[in-house]
This record gives sequence, structure tokens and C-alpha cells, in this order.
Amino acid sequence: MIGCECAVCRSSDPRDKRLRPSALIDTDHGQSLLVDAGPDLRAQALAFGVRRVDALLFTHGHADHILGLDEIRRFNSLQKTSMPCFADDLTVREIRTVFAYAFDPATPRGGGIPQLDLFTIGGPFCIGRQEVVPVPIFHGARPLLGFRVGALAYLTDCSRIPDDSWPLLENVEVLVLDALREKRHPTHFSIEEAVAASRRIGARRTYFTHMCHDLAHAATCARLPEGIELAYDGLVVSL
Ligand SMILES: [Zn+2]
Ligand SMILES: [Zn+2]
Ligand SMILES: [Zn+2]
Repeated sequence: MIGCECAVCRSSDPRDKRLRPSALIDTDHGQSLLVDAGPDLRAQALAFGVRRVDALLFTHGHADHILGLDEIRRFNSLQKTSMPCFADDLTVREIRTVFAYAFDPATPRGGGIPQLDLFTIGGPFCIGRQEVVPVPIFHGARPLLGFRVGALAYLTDCSRIPDDSWPLLENVEVLVLDALREKRHPTHFSIEEAVAASRRIGARRTYFTHMCHDLAHAATCARLPEGIELAYDGLVVSL
């Protein structure tokens, strides 16, 4: 956190240095799906050697999940194609507003504009041969989307999982789940709430994401139940 002198912000453990939440999913069919395009997208792609993105999945339109979208220009140029982007209706509208220049025919062309094809998600869909199942969840009062891809579920910015969404999470093996801090928060799960949701879903492995600087990596992992740990930047999980 900017200007913070707490033990986690001053920690020398690299797992305590957290950029914004995001994930890259490599499917069995050889495609790479990027979940969210936060303000750290460029730094993350450089740090972790991301060379290809076949599609973007958006959970919602908050700044920490979309503000790196302009960086997609590089993938447009490398792959010589526009980028398919999938989001719910509200998020599509937010992206069009925040990145108005990218959708304005009057903007001069020539390398400076991301080429984006926005698709509104209406239910499960396929990217190539990979089925992606949107999982509606709540972030405070705001509905947003988690995603199920095979045995993986990615649920960030979540404070409530509605009744209709639990069946979509059956037989999930690896769960990535929002857990902001110990104290309750109006728009994010606390550790206690996230542990309860993880248990109910019954995933073999759960990785918490979107933690704030209240949570030191090593000390928090040491007291989490078996099968649950904090994710960290650069973590690779195989299914
Ligand atoms: Zn701090
Ligand atoms: Zn959010
Ligand atoms: Zn967020």
C-alpha cells in the first residue's frame, strides 16, 4: 500500500509483494485465457513471460480489474488479430465508457488503440473447444461473474454466492477465492467467510486472492486449514 510502513508492506518475503488480482488459464486445448486486465497487466506479463493471450474474461469493471486494457495492443500486434473480450452487460458498458477512445471511429488509427471485440456473456460459452461457465456472485450489492473452467473456479471480489450458483461449483478441484482480510468487509469475503465457502464447495485445493496488507503470507498460511493457502504473484497451479 502506498505510504504504508506496516510489517507486510516492509516485508522481504516476495510473496508479500502483491500486484492486482488476475489469472492466466492455459486450457487443455492450447489456449490462454486472461481473467481481468488490471493496472499491473504490463508489469505482470513482463515478469511472468506472458507471450500470448487468446481471450479476455472480465469479472467486473472496477479499476483494479480493467485499467490495463490498453496494454492489449501488444498482443494485437504479436498475434495480428483483435482480442475477444467476454464480460457481463454492465461491465461491457463500463469498459466502453472508460476506454471510449478505443471504440470511437473518430480516434486516429495506427498502433495506438487496442483492438477489442466485446461480447456480452449470456450463459456458458466456448472459447475454441473450451467451455467457460460464468458463475454469478455478489460484490456487495453488485452482481458480477466468477468463472468455471473445467475443474477450476475463479471467484474474486466476492462477498456472497447466491443459491443458484452453488450447483455450478460442484466437483471443483481447485478454487481461487476472494479473502480480503480477517475483519468483515461489505464487498469482500473475510478469511472466516472464505474458509466457510471453500468448505461448502469442497475443493481439494483453495487459493485465496485479493488479500490486503493486513495478511502476511507466511503467518496467514500457517494458520489456515489444510488445503487452503494464500495465492501469490507468479503462483502456477497444475490441474
Ligand atoms: Zn501496509
Ligand atoms: Zn471490485
Ligand atoms: Zn477488486
